[in-house]
Order: sequence, then C-alpha cells, then structure tokens
Amino acid sequence: MDRIVFTNASLFDGDRAPRAGATVVVEGGRIAALDPKGATDGERIDLGGRTLMPGMVQGHFHSTYRDIGAQKWVFGFEKAPIYHAYIAAENARRALYCGFTSVVGASAAWDVDASLRDAIEDGLLEGPRVVPSSHDLVTTGDATDNRPGYMEISNLAAARICDGPDEFRHAVRDEIKRGAEMMKVFVSGGHFVTRAQEHVAMTAAELEATVEAAHGRGCRVRAHAAGKRAILQCLDAGVDIVDHADGMDDECIGRLAEAGTFVLPSLYLPLCMLQRMGDPVEDGKTEYRTDGGREFAHMCSVLGKADAAGVRIATGDDFGSVGVPHGDYAKELEVYVRHAGISPLTVLRWATRNGGALTGWGDVGTIEVGKRADLVVVDGDPTSDITILQDESRLHAILKGGTFVKPLPT
Ligand SMILES: [Zn+2]
Repeated sequence: MDRIVFTNASLFDGDRAPRAGATVVVEGGRIAALDPKGATDGERIDLGGRTLMPGMVQGHFHSTYRDIGAQKWVFGFEKAPIYHAYIAAENARRALYCGFTSVVGASAAWDVDASLRDAIEDGLLEGPRVVPSSHDLVTTGDATDNRPGYMEISNLAAARICDGPDEFRHAVRDEIKRGAEMMKVFVSGGHFVTRAQEHVAMTAAELEATVEAAHGRGCRVRAHAAGKRAILQCLDAGVDIVDHADGMDDECIGRLAEAGTFVLPSLYLPLCMLQRMGDPVEDGKTEYRTDGGREFAHMCSVLGKADAAGVRIATGDDFGSVGVPHGDYAKELEVYVRHAGISPLTVLRWATRNGGALTGWGDVGTIEVGKRADLVVVDGDPTSDITILQDESRLHAILKGGTFVKPLPT
C-alpha cells in the first residue's frame, strides 16, 4: 500500500482554518497531491468529515525526564544511565501515540537523545522524529548543577558544567561530536528553576562563544531565559530559541520578531506548580500571591501581542517533571486558550506549522505537497475545541511518513 487517498476530510493544513470535503493523496511517505482533479488510484479512505491535521511537534522534549524533582538525587543520577534510555524509549512512544510525530530536544542525560534518534530511525523503537539535544550546559552551581560541594562526580549526567568562553566552546564541540543537534544553555533563573528570573547565569562572552561554536558547526542554541535581561542577552548573542521568556515585554517582542527567534512559553509546568501551591490560576482570578503566579499572569497577558507582532511561538513543555507527566502534551495547548485567550486555531498553528519550522527540517508541520505525510485523524474539530486532543480515543489514526502508526478504527 504505497498510495493512500484520504477523501471527505476536514483539512487543517497547519495554517488556515479547516476546509471541509478535502482530498489528500499520500505517496512515498509524503503528501503527493491536494484535491487532485479527476480519478486517483490508490487505497481510498473516506474520513467521513473527520479532521485531518499535521502531526504535532513537541518542541521542548526532555526524553529522560520521569518524575524529575520527586527524588533528592543529583540531576541525572536518579537512575542508572541505561535506565534513562528505557525512560526515553517509553516517552518517545508516548509522544508518538499522542499525535506528536516530531520532538525537539531540550536536554537529556547521558547522551540519550542522539541514540534515541538513531534507534527510532533504525526501526528498533517506535517514536517520533527527534532533534537530539545536548546536556544542560550550565555554569558552576547554577540551574541543574545541584551537586553538593563535596561531591566530585562526572559532569556528564544531566548537567555539564562550563565556566568561561573556552569551556563553553569546548563543550559545544564535544556535544556535537556526541550527536547533539541542539545546544541547551541556562542563561537565567526563573520559570520554577532555581533563583529568580532576574538572575543571569552566563556572561555575554560565554553565550557568544556558545552560539559561535554551535553555529559554526550547523547546530542551533536554545536557552532557558526567563527574565528580560536574559532575553535581551540571548538576542544580542544570536540564540535561536528562547525557552520560557516569562519576562517578555514590548522591547523583547519587537526584537524577537525582527530576529525570527523562536519562543516557547511552556506555561503548563507553571500552571501545575501554581495549582500545587494553591495560587489562583482559574479564569478571572488575577490576585496571584507568588512571583511565579505574577510571572504566569504577565506571560499570559503578552502572548497574544507577541503572536500578532510576528514572534514565532511554538509549543513544548517540561513534561517528565513531577506532577507533569509525559503524555499530557496536549494539556499545554489548552493553557494558552484558557488562560491567555489565544484562539485554538492559533495555538494549533504553534503546535504544527511553527513546530515544524522549529525542527529546522523544512518538511514537517504542514500539509502541503512535498511535505512528509506525518498526519493525525481527529474525531471532531480541535480548532474549535482544543481539549479534544487530550483524549487519545479521539485520535482516530496517526501516520508517520505515510505509514499508519495507529490505524483507523474498523
Ligand atoms: Zn526544560
């Protein structure tokens, strides 16, 4: 079965509002034609008006996270290195069956991401397409470097400790040699990581050396940057992806849009943390008691403006943190609709079209002729009710590269 003709689809192509009665032809793993004229050979599948949409992209994927924060271990040493690989295999499978056919790494322990990508490509594991990430590159004593001072242990669990431009440059080159295609650095505190968002952890020279070394070898850089100062520092250095950006204001928005820098607000983790802390997060309640609550409210209030200004926003969150399990990916999408007032259609563009751009591959995230046939058949219209995507029974079929991962129900 090489040629599939989906008929009677409500087509959400990753950009425009759904269009009823569409025909989509898949051949050789890619989209071969849209609404072809005349008869078309192939296996015809009548979708009965169900939504056909691009596979989504989880743009902030921690493959080795599982109940992170629940155990008082040095980060990345919660389990044996090999066990982390099994965690990653399970998380990858979960993502695929949730309709996320591509993931972009945001750091993983023990070089797991590169092997995860290879194992999936080689057919050893079921999983999405993977942009493999580096370890967390962090400065001594910051962010995920939570080693007690007396403990002399390897850098290479989750946190890789670097100080000074030369050490960052060396780390970048070594991480690329180990298979990373995305470099992850911690530029600020905030977003429920240690220290306040105003805390800036890297010098301008360290960040510039990181970006220069990465770009010099075709690798991109993503930064945990929550506060305004850190966001501007990222822009000055040419960072490709700003994770969180909680302190984004008009100046940041203008510069992020101009530079084409991606922003991943990743507001599901803060929502879960605030709920656990009992800080109000329900609609209409804005009397936040905590810094985290006020940062959440601020980000919700500026996201629409950022989108309208042309900032490239994508989705993906810290799943695998305690209380935020892998598999809940679609719950992040609901946060932007419920708490930031963004339309479901716009949020779905972030999860598909923009996520596809985030991968850097150029051929995923939209349904267009020539793009990879990574597709999800949904029972219902997620562009009017985004919560549908949280219900796996409503994901009637999932295809990756034109092959059914999850077949249509018979
Ligand atoms: Zn993260």
